[in-house]
This record gives sequence, C-alpha cells and structure tokens, in this order.
Amino acid sequence: MPQHESTRWVHAPFNGLLLAALVLGVAVTATTENSGDNGSVVASPSPVASASRTVERKAPTAKPRRTKEPVPKKPVVRESMTPSTPLAPSRKSSKPPANPRGIVYLTFDDGPSPYTPAILDVLRATRSTATFFEVGFRQAQHPATPAHVRARGSNIGNHTYSHWDLTTLTPAEIRSQVARGPRSRCVRPPFGATNPRVQRVFRQQGLRQVLWTVDTLDWKRPGVTHLIEAATGPKVRAGSIVLMHDGGGDRSQTVAALPRIIATLHQRGYVVRRIPGC
Ligand SMILES: [Zn+2]
Repeated sequence: MPQHESTRWVHAPFNGLLLAALVLGVAVTATTENSGDNGSVVASPSPVASASRTVERKAPTAKPRRTKEPVPKKPVVRESMTPSTPLAPSRKSSKPPANPRGIVYLTFDDGPSPYTPAILDVLRATRSTATFFEVGFRQAQHPATPAHVRARGSNIGNHTYSHWDLTTLTPAEIRSQVARGPRSRCVRPPFGATNPRVQRVFRQQGLRQVLWTVDTLDWKRPGVTHLIEAATGPKVRAGSIVLMHDGGGDRSQTVAALPRIIATLHQRGYVVRRIPGC
C-alpha cells in the first residue's frame, strides 16, 4: 500500500473529520441538486437576493420531471433536529410586544413539507402568523397542510407549480406554471428570478409579485445561531420581508431557530405577521 494511502487511514481523528466532511459534502451536493438548476428535481433553490436580477439558466427540457419530494436528509449538524422533535416550551413561546414599533413579515418558501406543521406550532405559540409560498406539486403531496396553514391564520402565496426559473419559459409556459400553482393573490417567482415578461404575466393574472428584503440563506444550513442573527440583525426593520424555507430539503435548523428568531424580534419591538392581501 503506498505511503499516502496508509497515512490517510491511520490517523483516526482525521478519518472522523474526513468522514464528516464527506457526509457534509454529500448533503451540500444533494441540496444543490435539489435546487432545480440541473432540471432533475424541482425544489429549494439558492434564491437570488435582488428583485431585478435575472439568472441565466438552462431552459427546462420537455422530458417529464421528477416530482417526488426529496426526503429531508438526516441532520449532519449539531443544531439539527427532526421535525418531530418537540421544542422546549420555554423557548417556544414568546409574547408579542404590547406596543409594537412595527411589523416584520416572515415568509417560508418551497413547502409544504414535513417541517411545515412544526413551524405552524411555533407561530401559534408565539401568537404570530407568516406567509408560506408553496409549490403546487408539493401541495398535492401534502393535501392537508394548506388548510392547516390557513386555519392558523397564516396565508399562502403562489410559488408556481414546478419551481422552474420562469425567466427561461415562454409566456404560455409561465401562465401555466402560475395557473397550476397554489391559489393566492401573491406570487413569488422561484429563485426570485423575474423580468418584465414574467411580471407582465403576473399582472395579467391579477397577481402581486412579492420578493423579500432579507435573505437568511437558511437553505445553506449555516447553523442555528447564524440563522437567528440573519433573521433578526440590523438589516431587519419595520416592514422587512424575511426569506426562509420550510420545504425543499433539511429545514431542521430553520425550525430550531424560529422560536428564538421570533422572541428576538419581539424583544426588538416587532410583531410577526403574514403579508396582507395574499
Ligand atoms: Zn423557492
């Protein structure tokens, strides 16, 4: 066996690190594959942060799409928790300020998913509501969840049917993607990818485009502490629209961070509400 081969496997701690890196690498790769960039799976993206940015992407092929929801990956980070893990009640509940200085709008994209009920539980315990930009094909997989969302006082936005980049589609295809998506008066184009052609179709269908002002990048799973900072930091102010994800991959960090995100926003004097009129 060559020297470097034996070296690689002798040092146990490094083996552990290597293994962890490999596992992490696999998970990250899987997330990327789920992004829809390669057209094989339509799922959670790496959303662009700007309203006007147009992303160049390969036009979707005509072959049938895989519409099966990716199974959330087993958590590979310390802060992760499964959707069924109950949150500590003391951390889960937080009262909104009596005299709020403003509203922060939390939005969750790419669901519904097995994580959605846990997010709804946190919202209820903190007397908050949010807007869920759901994907049509996932609604078909979780038929009970949209009603659950509305019953809790939150609302649903249209995130199209297949989560394709609309800027790569013809007007007829855009119309179809939107028409087959969740019923709502608000639409958020997948990846935030939009242009005048896309917006013209939205207008024709009586839909209001809603992007975001603060991107937590929660789909990168940066750790719960980082997520809390991203969703409550100085960029977040009255009227902010905060982007998070309840679907499209392992969202355990998002679920774990949410109670403290809302508690911190309450401490800063904000209430957390759904986007009105969706
Ligand atoms: Zn999305």
